[in-house]
Amino acid sequence: MKFSMKLVLSTIIVLALALGFSGFYFVNYVFETSLDREVGQALDESSILSFAFETAALNVPLKYSVLPDSVVEEIASKLEMGGRSEGRLLRIADEEQNVLYTSDGFTADEGLLPQTDQHTKSYRVILEGDSYYVHTCVSINTLDRILYLETMKNVTEVFTERAMGFSLYRKVTITMLLTGMVIMLVIASLLTKPIRLLTKATKRMAAGDYTYRARQISQDELGQLTRDFNGMANALEENICKLEEEIEAREEFMGAFAHELKTPLTAIIGYADMLRSHKMDEEKSIMSANYIYTEGKRLEAMSFRLLDIIVAKQEEADLQEIPVQELFVYLQEMFAEKREMDIRFHYEEAVVQAEANLIKTVLVNLVDNACKASETGGAGSGTEDTAENVGVVEVTGQAADEGYRIAVKDYGIGIPEEEQHKIVKAFYMVDKSRARSKNGAGLGLALCAEILKIHHSRLQIESKVGEGSCFSFVLPMEGRGTYEE
Ligand code: ADP
Repeated sequence: MKFSMKLVLSTIIVLALALGFSGFYFVNYVFETSLDREVGQALDESSILSFAFETAALNVPLKYSVLPDSVVEEIASKLEMGGRSEGRLLRIADEEQNVLYTSDGFTADEGLLPQTDQHTKSYRVILEGDSYYVHTCVSINTLDRILYLETMKNVTEVFTERAMGFSLYRKVTITMLLTGMVIMLVIASLLTKPIRLLTKATKRMAAGDYTYRARQISQDELGQLTRDFNGMANALEENICKLEEEIEAREEFMGAFAHELKTPLTAIIGYADMLRSHKMDEEKSIMSANYIYTEGKRLEAMSFRLLDIIVAKQEEADLQEIPVQELFVYLQEMFAEKREMDIRFHYEEAVVQAEANLIKTVLVNLVDNACKASETGGAGSGTEDTAENVGVVEVTGQAADEGYRIAVKDYGIGIPEEEQHKIVKAFYMVDKSRARSKNGAGLGLALCAEILKIHHSRLQIESKVGEGSCFSFVLPMEGRGTYEE
């Protein structure tokens, strides 16, 4: 059963009970008041009749010292009709409770007589045929006799009124319940609307529509529930998006990995097959072996890089205080042999927080990439200033508000804008043949990104095709000074 229906039914049950009890109490109260009034009137009337009897008995001639039964009958018959068009219902009994006079239609049994004595009046309500009566009994003291006068007063009307009252109240109750039910249906439907909207949202989300949100239409507890539900849906959507991105990145990685493995392996297998199946002259044999060696080396380098990335992903940051000088001196020594490039270093002395070996790996990769991008074939379409600087790589270190910024700037080929966010992905190369010819596999920047992640930093790339690129990142800093070469 629907919640709104339950709400309607429970309200109707409560309403029915309340109306039923109050109606019963009200009609019964009116009935009892009317019946009490009728009983009072009947008792008063019987007292008056008793007094009238005693008065009439006083007028009996003095020859009787005891009232004879015939006189009793005479007085009783006079009282029966006295002052009324319709005869009274009465019965007179003597001291031994022998009936002396009975009106026509007086049908009540003699059950009340034993309960009455000289000093008490008694009454009861009886049903005779279809009619209700108040049956009273009082004593009469006259001429040395004690007689008993019983009367019957018809009170059927009071009972009929009660039955009519109940019937009317039943009709009113049923009408009110039906009207109440319609009103409650409308109210319950309005009250449960937020629940229906939430159910709809839940179903849509279960069907995969994670962008759907429940409409909030109230500020009460259900409104709060809707807000909380939408908050939960936002968090869920965010997590699902992250998971989807991760899955996509993993699939991309697997595809690129398989592809990068295939190229050197095809070359190795091809040349190895040639070596074992043809008899070749020495020069060709050496050339084939050479291909196998270089492609094998490439595979080896790639597997080392991949291992580095995996290690960097799992590594916990163990940051130490390092003077930046240590990093720059290492770089200078590392690239001292690269005479064809003009690598310039300019840095402010400072102490940074970093894992020295990992940051050195990042710097070597960035300088190496800058050198590759600046080698012949780059910056042809650049500005005059760029053309002058071809072959120059600037490595700078500068203290800034956010930390210590290290930047590697070249005036090489540059990177198209739409490629800039992709180059940190594993195996991504802007120009594959050029990268492979320089022994690249598209893993260097992916490794840098992972290393910077554990330093709570990230790679920033500014680049223009034909003008060059600038790769920079920020490290947490301790102290500062200046150095220039
Ligand atoms: P690779 O091993 O190929 O150098 P990286 O991950 O280091 O792999 O670089 C990915 C790609 O980004 C490179 O193949 C190159 O196309 C591009 N790239 C990286 N650094 C530069 C740069 N300084 N200038 C131009 N292109 C660059």
